[in-house]
Amino acid sequence: MSDTDRPSLIRRTPWPESASRPVGTPLQPSVVYASRNPDALDAQYEGRTEGFAYSREGHPNAQILATKIDGMEGAVGGIVTSSGMAAVTAAVLGLLNAGDHIIAGDQLYGRSLRLMQEDLPRLGIGATLADPTDIEAFRKALHPETRAILVEVVSNPTLRVADMEGLAQLAREYDLLLMVDNTFTTPRAYRPFDHGADVVIHSVTKLLAGHSDAMLGYVVAKNPALQEQITTTVITWGMVGSPFDCWLAERGLYSFDLRFDRASQNAAELADHLGGLPGVRRVLYPLRADHPDHNRAAHLLGGQGGNMVSFEVEGGRAAANALTEAAANIAFAPTLGDIGTTLSHAASSSHRGLDAAAREAIGISEGFFRVSVGVEDIALLKREFAEAVAAAVKPRGV
Ligand SMILES: *Cc1c(COP(=O)(O)O)cnc(C)c1O
Repeated sequence: MSDTDRPSLIRRTPWPESASRPVGTPLQPSVVYASRNPDALDAQYEGRTEGFAYSREGHPNAQILATKIDGMEGAVGGIVTSSGMAAVTAAVLGLLNAGDHIIAGDQLYGRSLRLMQEDLPRLGIGATLADPTDIEAFRKALHPETRAILVEVVSNPTLRVADMEGLAQLAREYDLLLMVDNTFTTPRAYRPFDHGADVVIHSVTKLLAGHSDAMLGYVVAKNPALQEQITTTVITWGMVGSPFDCWLAERGLYSFDLRFDRASQNAAELADHLGGLPGVRRVLYPLRADHPDHNRAAHLLGGQGGNMVSFEVEGGRAAANALTEAAANIAFAPTLGDIGTTLSHAASSSHRGLDAAAREAIGISEGFFRVSVGVEDIALLKREFAEAVAAAVKPRGV
């Protein structure tokens, strides 16, 4: 039997006709899109018709996800990237030129700090780090070439709250682009565009997607011309997110509001619980009265303290080891924003590059933990943390 006697297995089969439509979002992994003829392709590239051509330039699952996050941020035209770092990189490379200077928060996400300190200078872009809770420090870091500010609203892992009003005012005064990495706060607690920001960045990997199974970022500029520069950078440098990850993240967003509110409420309760446990030296949560930026947090975050809590136990590294081992059901993992509670230890992960003295200077000891609180039953979380802390601080090795 010859191959011509049956339909070719290589020819694609058209999608079955259906009078009904799928309720779930379809997943479209196609890299390329076929057009009717060159005129049709012209029409598409010239914006007279809508359509996809090659998935690095955009695909349906990325577009659906980006439009949803646009809606959350009160933005239009944002783009999904392959990771949060791709989003930070696309914003900086898309908007700054050699010879420009940027002032960045001094406690940014570790890789963002590295981008500022190692990569930008290599490309001829100057960067100075400053404390975003101290507007005078930012003022002192200004250069004639300064074009942009990059900050996170709530810092990792000490949960300091940036002076967003002061920074927005400084950006206006000196005509700087205010770029805000809104990963920790999410648009549920803070919408940067409502407060003078020019660019909003997310690691979608974290709270937005919410299940630690998709790696993506998102970036949007308020000004469409600047957005065009960022979008072009994403396409040229190849930073597009994969359809499957976009599909997972969009699915994660259905429950985002519920997850964030519950996790935030759990975090506030867990913070107070931890504060009452013997052996806990201090607890950091932005809405607690003993937090150094409590007033600013109450003012900026609309009553949502977020899902991150940090605390310090007595007993150094030995206690830290005992605590993570005793908290066997809580993933000890360097991430955040998962639907379940996770625990991270700055001295051995995000801040391992600093020596002990430099860590102590920003309040990170061997007993310092950051908790990304999930949506579990709060009674369960309280019990697990009470047991873990008790195991950490009980006398050892006598
Ligand atoms: C995780 C994170 C990033 C980087 O995101 P990835 O998706 O891991 O690349 C950037 N900023 C903040 C605040 C983060 O927590």
